[in-house]
Formats: sequence, C-alpha cells, structure tokens
Amino acid sequence: MVETTESSPKTHAFQAEVSQVLSLVIHSLYSNKDIFLRELVSNAADALDKLRFQSIAKPELAPKDHVARVRLIPDKAARTLTIADTGIGMTEEQLIRDLGTVARSGTRELAEKLKLVKPVEGKDGAGSVPSFIGQFGVGFYSGFLVADRIDVISRAAGSDKAFKWSSSGTDSFTVAPAERDEVGTSVVLHLKEDLASYAEEHTLRNLVRTYSDFISYPIELEVTRDSEKDGEKKKLEAINQASALWMRSKKDITDAQYDELYRHVSHDWEAPLARTHFQVEGTQMFTGLLFIPKNPPFDLFSSETRHGVRLYVRRVFIMEDCEELLPRWLRFVRGVIDSDDLPLNVSRELLQDSATVRTIKKQVIRRVLDLLLDVAENKPEEYGAFWGKFGAVLKEGLHFDPSHKDKLGKLVRYESTRTTTEAQYVSLDEYVKRMPLAQPAIYYAVGATRALLDKSPQLEALKKRGFEILLMTDGVDQFALDSLTEWEGKPFVNATEADLDIKDEDGEDPKAPEGDFAPLLTRAKDVLSEHVSEVRVSKRLTDSPSCLVIPKGGLPPHIERLIRAQRGGELPQQKRILELNPTHPVVMRLQADATGDAASEKLGEAIEMLYDQALLAEGSPLPDPSRFVARVTALMERAG
Ligand code: ADP
Repeated sequence: MVETTESSPKTHAFQAEVSQVLSLVIHSLYSNKDIFLRELVSNAADALDKLRFQSIAKPELAPKDHVARVRLIPDKAARTLTIADTGIGMTEEQLIRDLGTVARSGTRELAEKLKLVKPVEGKDGAGSVPSFIGQFGVGFYSGFLVADRIDVISRAAGSDKAFKWSSSGTDSFTVAPAERDEVGTSVVLHLKEDLASYAEEHTLRNLVRTYSDFISYPIELEVTRDSEKDGEKKKLEAINQASALWMRSKKDITDAQYDELYRHVSHDWEAPLARTHFQVEGTQMFTGLLFIPKNPPFDLFSSETRHGVRLYVRRVFIMEDCEELLPRWLRFVRGVIDSDDLPLNVSRELLQDSATVRTIKKQVIRRVLDLLLDVAENKPEEYGAFWGKFGAVLKEGLHFDPSHKDKLGKLVRYESTRTTTEAQYVSLDEYVKRMPLAQPAIYYAVGATRALLDKSPQLEALKKRGFEILLMTDGVDQFALDSLTEWEGKPFVNATEADLDIKDEDGEDPKAPEGDFAPLLTRAKDVLSEHVSEVRVSKRLTDSPSCLVIPKGGLPPHIERLIRAQRGGELPQQKRILELNPTHPVVMRLQADATGDAASEKLGEAIEMLYDQALLAEGSPLPDPSRFVARVTALMERAG
C-alpha cells in the first residue's frame, strides 16, 4: 500500500471519454477559442445560482457578509487568468467526479459519436466544428483551448476545507488540499505562450460584453491603474450590467444578448430560431423568456429526456428542467420562467399540485404556440425546416392535449401527393383552399415511407380525380388524428380504408359490376380465406389489378407490424379486404377463367399472385416469398 500524507497530491486518471471530449474541443474549436470565457463564467453563474437556492433552506451555507459575484483576475507577469466565483464550490469528491468524468449523458453520447468522427480540416488548417457539437456544450474543458495547465481551487459551501485540482489536460489530474478564504471556486488558467492576450484588460472587457452580459451577478475585472500619488494600484471594476436579462426592458436588450442567454440555458451552440419575452400580470405575476431551438438535441425522442425551462422565483434560481411548466410535446422549448408568486422553498411535489403552476403552464403553451404561428406565417421557409425536425413532437400535442387542436391544426404540416422537394409540406389551410369543388373530404394515407405511399394503388382513383392526399409517415400520425377529425368543416378520411366513398366524374356512384364478377370473387374468397375477410370489386383502382384496404378504423399494416413486434407477436392477424380492378385486363381474364372450366389450379395460383402483388405494392412482406418468386419465374419461362 502506498502511504500518502495529508498534503501530497493524489493523481487520478481522466475517464476515457474525457480525453475524447478534450481532444474534440482542442481540434474543432481551434478557431473559436474565445468561447472558453463564456463557458467558465457560465459555470460560475450556475454555482452562484445553486448556492443562492440551497441557502434558502440552509441559510448557514452562505455567511452573512456573502457577496455573490464573479471576478476576473488577469496577471500578465505570471501569464494567468483567474475566474473566481463565490458560488457553491466543490468538495474533494466533486472535484474528482465533476472535473474528471463526463457526467452529462449528452456529453457521454457525444464522446461515443466522436469515436466515429475525424475532425474535419478547415481552410486555415484548423478543425471546423462538427455540426452536432452544438447539441452538447463543451463546458469546463474549453479552458484547455487557451491554457496548458488549469488549477481549480475550490471550497464547498458548508466546509472549511479547500482543495486544488490541477491538470495539463492530458490523461490525468491531481487533487491536493489547499487554502481558500471564502466559499467558492477559482479557476486559474495558465495561458499558452502565444495567448497572453487573454490577460489583457480590453480583451476581457470585450469578451464579457459579447458573451456574458446577460449574467445576473456582477462580473468584476481586476484592473491595474497608475496614479502619481500611489503608483501602480489594483482595483476592481464591474464590467457587466448584473441584472437578470429577462427583467430588463425589451428595448434595452440586443439580439446578441438574447442569444447568449439562450446558449447559457440550452447549452446549444447555435442561435435560436425564435424567442418570446413576456410579462404576465394579474392574479399570477411572472416573466417568461422562451426560445425555440433551430436544431433538436440528439435525445429528442428518448423517453428519459429531461426537459423543461429554468424556474426562478423572484430572480432566485430554483431548478433547471422544470417539467411541470411545459407539456412533453413542447419538450424542445428552452428558456426561463420567473414567478413572483411561488414560494422560494417550492418543491417538486408542490409544483405538481399548484394552481399557480397550472396557470403559468397554460400561458407558456399559449405563448409558444403563438410564437410558432408567427414564425409559420412570417418565415415559412424557416418554419418548414423547423417542422421537419420537431413536427413529430408537436403532433403529440394533438393526441395528448386536444384542447389546443385549433392552433395545432394551423401549425401541422404534411407531405402530400402534391408536395415536392421545394415545397415539402402543405398546411391544412392550404390543403382545404386548393381542394377541387367536387372533393368531399380531406384524404390521407398512413404508411411507412413517402415513396411507398405515393405509389399506393389505393390512391389511384382519388389522384385521377385531382384530389390531393396527405401522406403521413410518422408513428404519431395515426394517434394525432384521434382529435383532428375535421378541418374547416371537411372530415378527414383515410384513403386506404374500406368504405371510401368515391363518386365518378358526374357525381354518380361508379358502376361496380359485382354481379358479373361473382364467380371470380367467390373463388378468390375461397382461396384467400386465411388472409382476407372479403374480396370485392374496386372503385378506387385505375391502373393496378389489386389492392388491400383496411376495415374502417383498422390499423395500417406497418403499424400492425410494429405493435406485433413490440408485443412479441401477440396481436391477432387483422384480416383486410382485397379489392380487384374490374377494368384491368388480368382481372378480366381471370374472370373469364373462373366462369369457364379452365384448370382451376392455375386460377388459384393467379389469385394468390394478385394478393401477393397487393402486399408488395404497399411494402408489406409476403407470406411465402420463395413461392412468389418460383411463380414469377415460371411465368417468365412461359412468356419466353
Ligand atoms: P456542465 O457545466 O455543462 O455540467 P462542465 O464540464 O462545465 O459541464 O462542468 C462539470 C461540472 O463541474 C458542473 O456540472 C459543476 O457541477 C461543476 N463545476 C464546474 N465549474 C464549477 C464552478 N465554478 N463551481 C462549482 N462547480 C463547478
């Protein structure tokens, strides 16, 4: 056993992922070094938030004379820059864990991805930023962009011991006991030789103005002033506005400041797509500043994703990811809610049961939907891009919160038989506006892919009449339609369902010569009794010989397969209806065969092939593919 005395530093290895994150940071942010300051100041502000919050329940954590602040202390002679806060601090264990492992699952995932990605060389030889890095936020490790060694001296609130973490960002770090008068953390950056400029007063002033002006705590810069009387003297100057950005008047806030606050609360790299900043007065007073991101986080569809906005009560930070303020179907929204009415010691239980929270949540939903409507109307292209990434989430709202269906119905977009790659989506309003007079309903089809749906035989007759069909390929679509049953008085009708009511061009029921086809239909029912519930003459087919339709309210085949896979096969086979095209030469010939005394075995085979073709056309698997292939081969041989 190795004896260690109290004061000798202990060496710890970085978790493997840390080394990957570090190498990514160094390579891909090469030309964005400036961001280190905003990341470290961000961490300092978070630490101050946490102390303020925890000292509500435990006032002894913050001494009476405690002043919440961040200090920037440059030392040109030593070529160091220190970022010192009076926040919550870290214990020895926390230093080892928080600065030695990749804790946030997002960053861990990033590290996994990194194994697959080589940094892309940019023009100036620097790595360009991989597009996905924006989803993660690089945090503390960005310090190594400018420093070849970092010391972190920290004293946790409630403790009188301080510790020093030290590393040059290779594979390991050391931790040893240290001295620190106050609770909080000092991050000492030993600047790289060519980066001494980060210890310059004007550089730091500019960086804080650009990146960190939204921080609600004072940021003080230690400056050196020459005076005749006293010679060189150091003094502290506040260099930010130090008020919560969302409490300032809108006209005093620049876009850049809004964007920086967004980056702070979201860890997103990019600027947001849109924002709404509002104050609500009346029975509940609160301020909201909400953002819609441009790109989704990688875990948008994970059931474990935490989501929500930051909750503050009278400027005091209470919690991150406050899910109670936001429904799951708005889980991509980021931002801040600052309530005047909630108690400071508010707990999760209390939030779940609070009328105040319910009122705030209602407002939040309303504001977000209005914001999206505004983007949809005024920046349709950007809205289209948003929809492609977040639409599936928003559609969940139709199912779970039908009370918002009027606004959601204005926001939903679909692909359709008329949309193209340029105009990818159609809105319901547009759809209804361009419906031909004779069209009685909003037609839609649900399936696995657009390509398959667009070519579905089931849609032939509708297309021929010039009717547009919405093509729905999201798993959630079927459920979203539970509440969206009509739009502008036009009912939604599933174009692949059995009782599709199609009139011919004169508004008459097309003649369905059932009677003439009776022998073929009877024979087909007999042959396919295991697979289909009925065989009938189709009104909807024009070019294809056959198709399968679902009984009213039935499940689309791809959803049926999905459910069956999830339940390990336990879902009784839903029998569908086989429709035959009475005008198709193949069907006409088979009908002739069925009435004559032709070899009935051949007829049975041909009927099975019509069924198989219908399955293939909709992208469903065949019950016996090898048999189908053998038959096609035989046909080809005969034809040849
Ligand atoms: P993030 O801030 O995104 O969680 P970081 O790598 O920046 O990731 O920091 C990791 C953790 O280290 C933080 O979550 C926090 O617990 C701790 N930490 C970093 N800086 C400070 C600080 N100045 N004061 C207290 N804790 C800090």
